[in-house]
Amino acid sequence: MRVFKFGGASVKDAEGVKNVVKVLTETGHENTVVVVSAMGKTTNALEGVVEAYFTQPESSKTALQDVEVFHQHIIDELFEAPNSPVSKRVKNLFEQCHTFLANNRSPHEAFVYDQVVSFGELVSTSIICAYLNHIGIAAEWIDARSCIKTDNFYRSAHLDWKRTQLAIQNQVQWRTLKITQGFIGSDDNNFTTTLGREGSDYSAAIFAYCLGATDVTIWKDVPGVLNADPRVFDKTQLLHHISYQEAIELAFYGASVIHPKTLQPLQRKEIPLFVKSFLNPTENGTQVGKGVRMRPEIPCYIVKKGLSLLRLSTRDFSFVVEDNISDIFKLLHEHKMSVDLIQNSAISFSVCINDKYHNVETLLHNLRARFDVQYTPNVTLYTIRHFEDDSATSLLKSNELILEQRTETTLQLVMK
Ligand code: ADP
Ligand code: ASP
Ligand code: MG
Repeated sequence: MRVFKFGGASVKDAEGVKNVVKVLTETGHENTVVVVSAMGKTTNALEGVVEAYFTQPESSKTALQDVEVFHQHIIDELFEAPNSPVSKRVKNLFEQCHTFLANNRSPHEAFVYDQVVSFGELVSTSIICAYLNHIGIAAEWIDARSCIKTDNFYRSAHLDWKRTQLAIQNQVQWRTLKITQGFIGSDDNNFTTTLGREGSDYSAAIFAYCLGATDVTIWKDVPGVLNADPRVFDKTQLLHHISYQEAIELAFYGASVIHPKTLQPLQRKEIPLFVKSFLNPTENGTQVGKGVRMRPEIPCYIVKKGLSLLRLSTRDFSFVVEDNISDIFKLLHEHKMSVDLIQNSAISFSVCINDKYHNVETLLHNLRARFDVQYTPNVTLYTIRHFEDDSATSLLKSNELILEQRTETTLQLVMK
C-alpha cells in the first residue's frame, strides 16, 4: 500500500483538484491512501472565524459564510450541474459548523479552534472524493477522526499509537482508493483534535506507519527538497537523495517543506519518503531513505524570521549553567516559547526564541527580576548545514551579525 499527501497549495482551486486526478492517473491509484489538507488558505480563514467568535461573535458568521462561498465556487466549476449531492453535503458540513458555534458554551479557545478549523479538511476531502467518483475513479471517503486517536491537547494533540494502529487497521481495507484528511484526529470523547499547523505530512506518515506502507509521497509546488527555500534564495538546487537523519535535521531547523514530525515514524519502519512536484509527477524529486548519502552534497540554507534574541547575565556573578539554567528553561516553558538556539558563557546565557503566543512581555518581566536582560526583537536565524568557508559571505554583506554558533556540520547566524 502507498500513501500520498496533497497539501493546501495543490488543491487551492478547481484546477488543482483536476490536477490531483491527473497525478493519480499518471502514477496509478490501486492500494493507495490519499491524505489531503484544506484547500488553499482555508485553515487561515477558519482561524479567522475562531478569532472573530471570541472577539466579535457576529462577524464570525459572515467569515464562515465566506469560506463556504469559496468552496461552493470550486464545486460549481467541478460539477456542472447545480445542487449536486456534494454541494448538499458541503452545505451540511458548514451548517454543522454554524450550529457548533451557536450552541458552544466552552470558553476553551483551543478546543473551539479544533472543532471549527477541522472543517477545512472535512470539506476538501468531501469535494475531492466526490469528484473522483464523478469522473469514474472509485474512491472511498474515510473519516480520519475515526483513525487518528489522540489525547485532548487541542491544537497540538499527541498521538495514541496503540489505538491509532488498531483503528487504522479496522478502517482501512485494501484495494479501493481511499481519501482521508490530514491534520485532524479525535480524543477519547470523540471530540475533534488537530495535530498542529502543517500537520498533514505527519498524518500521512502515521497512516503509512500503521499500514506498513511501501512508501509515502508528498506532492508539493516545488520539484522536491531543495538546498534552500526558493521563496527566499535565488539559485536553489534539488537534493536527489537524503537520509532520514538529514531530513530530520533540515525540518527541525525550519525547512518548512517537510513537517518535522513526519520523519520519525517513517524512519522507524524504514518506509521511503518521496517529495515530488504535483506539476511534474513523473519526475524523480527527492528520495528520503535509510543510510543514503546526501546527493548532491552541497550547503543547505534554512531561514527563520521574526525571532527574538535574549541575552541574560547574572548580577551576582553566579554561574548560569550551575545555578540558574533550570529556572530559565522553566520560565521559557511556562511562557510557551519555542527555543531555536542557545549559547552560554560562565555568567551569561543567550537564547533565540519564537514567541508564537505573544508572551514575551511577561517573560521579560519575570526574567528581569533576577537577571540583566538584553532583548533584541525581530532577528533572523540562518542555519547552514554542510557549510563551506564562503557559505555565509553574501549573508554577512547585507545583514548585521549578532551571534554565531558552529558545529562540525552546522553554522548558525543570528542577524538583524
Ligand atoms: P503544502 O502545500 O504541502 O502545505 P508547503 O507550502 O507547506 O506545502 O511546503 C512547500 C513550500 O515549502 C515550498 O513552496 C517552498 O517555498 C517551501 N520550502 C521551504 N524550504 C524548502 C526547501 N528546502 N525545499 C523546498 N521547498 C522549501
Ligand atoms: N490545513 C492545515 C494547515 O494549513 C494542515 C496542513 O495543511 O498540513 O496548517
Ligand atoms: Mg502547508
